[in-house]
Amino acid sequence: MIVLSERIEQVLVEIVGADRVTSKDFDLIPYSRDLSPAKQKFPRFVVMPTNKEEIQEILKAANQHEFPVYVRGGGTSHWDAYLCQEPGVLLDLSLMNKIIEINKRDLTATVQPNCTWSKLDRELQKHGLTYLCSEAGGPAMTIGGSVMKAGGGPHSTAKFGLHGNQDIITLEIVLPNGDIVETGSAAWPSAGKFKRQCLGPDLAGLFIGSEGILGVCTELTLRIRPVSSKKIRMVAIVDSLDKVIEFGHFINRHVGDEYLQGSYFWVDPTAPDVFILMMDLFGYEDEILEFRKKRIIEKISELGGKLEDPTPANDYYDRVLTGLTDIFATGVWHFFGSGSLRIDDIPFLYKVWLEEIIEKRGMKTVGLGGQILPRDWLAFMVTNYQEPSEWEQIIEIADEINEIVLNGPVVPYGIGGRDGLRNIVAKHNTGYYCLLKSIKKMLDPKNILQRGIFIPEEDL
Ligand SMILES: Cc1cc2nc3c(=O)[nH]c(=O)nc-3n(C[C@H](O)[C@H](O)[C@H](O)COP(=O)(O)OP(=O)(O)OC[C@H]3O[C@@H](n4cnc5c(N)ncnc54)[C@H](O)[C@@H]3O)c2cc1C
Repeated sequence: MIVLSERIEQVLVEIVGADRVTSKDFDLIPYSRDLSPAKQKFPRFVVMPTNKEEIQEILKAANQHEFPVYVRGGGTSHWDAYLCQEPGVLLDLSLMNKIIEINKRDLTATVQPNCTWSKLDRELQKHGLTYLCSEAGGPAMTIGGSVMKAGGGPHSTAKFGLHGNQDIITLEIVLPNGDIVETGSAAWPSAGKFKRQCLGPDLAGLFIGSEGILGVCTELTLRIRPVSSKKIRMVAIVDSLDKVIEFGHFINRHVGDEYLQGSYFWVDPTAPDVFILMMDLFGYEDEILEFRKKRIIEKISELGGKLEDPTPANDYYDRVLTGLTDIFATGVWHFFGSGSLRIDDIPFLYKVWLEEIIEKRGMKTVGLGGQILPRDWLAFMVTNYQEPSEWEQIIEIADEINEIVLNGPVVPYGIGGRDGLRNIVAKHNTGYYCLLKSIKKMLDPKNILQRGIFIPEEDL
């Protein structure tokens, strides 16, 4: 009698060919961890599809033989979001990395999911174009992976927000049963890929941030724009959190979301009352940029702040896409106590950081930072720790801090599997979570896709 895993291997090989399926220990090791303290979890097989039809076939076979399927983009997320919670089939989408079209007239770009932000940006720059929103995960992070977790980072978020915003126009998704669905104007066969909200409900919004539990994304169309020729970056220091808050409101209220592409604040445990602001200004015309710079200088001076040498901001914003590789030089990065919160609520996070982490637990390596987004912060605590010696301590502290912070005004971000935030989200059992479970059950009754990610197995 043929054992199940041999049968599954046969099925996978029939779909993609023997050279794109592996179960060798040596091949599986790199897929068993992510960039977080999450425990090692091995897939049984890694498969590299090259097109949506192969993904369709794999998902149909998964339903027939009832094996779980997990999806990996560039693998740079760090909250147990693609590690196999049960030994299953891991789809590595690395071969689906093409730029399908750059439409210079409509200002749209259509890509396969594993096209990286840096690859797209390099190509766009050749045409004097750019996609402004980006993250700091380096050259490996993919557009599909980013959008499926609704990411967003240092560059452009002040103006354009995270990937849930209007810059994602249409998506193509293979649903867990193998059906294919397109969203927005792409759903209308005789139209084109140019508009997000039309036809009816915004289905793209259902998949953005779903961490792959509702379908595998196989194509994305994004809004692109002319690149601005002049870069103005600024660094300023203010001496109280109230002033950081006032600066956040200044961006949102007095000058509108137009002003900055990115704005970031950072406070270090060695100097908890020195608040650093880094800014990347937005604008196409020199006069407009200079005006915006002048207004920021006036505001910083009104706050009693000090302008500093902008080199760190230049360095930071320029290397966001190409990779901040040196940040791994001294250990493993771990983010915790992270999420979205109102501008006025940042003192809550600061108090937890100062009292619970630095004073009570004596952790002198954990910094606090955040992106100023339109109307809110995306804030985080981050440390650089050593494995294996500090591993257990970090997990323990991060779990305790996550509990405290998420019982306050912070909305979690990056939910992931059993070593991520999913159990905290499940415990809150909100109406939102119940609806998500119903949608998941409807689209994936056998729970084959991303089993155990976002929603614990026992909740479905
Ligand atoms: C140093 C560093 C800095 C970072 N800075 C930021 C930041 O500023 N902002 C931020 O948001 N994140 C940040 N990240 C996290 C990470 O880089 C981003 O979340 C990145 O967008 C993930 O992309 P990825 O291709 O690596 O996705 P993966 O890690 O491979 O996947 C992310 C999630 O999406 C799912 N997924 C991937 N592809 C698909 C698909 N095609 N269809 C369906 N589901 C899919 C996965 O299962 C997983 O749940 C940072 C990471 C590092 C290491």
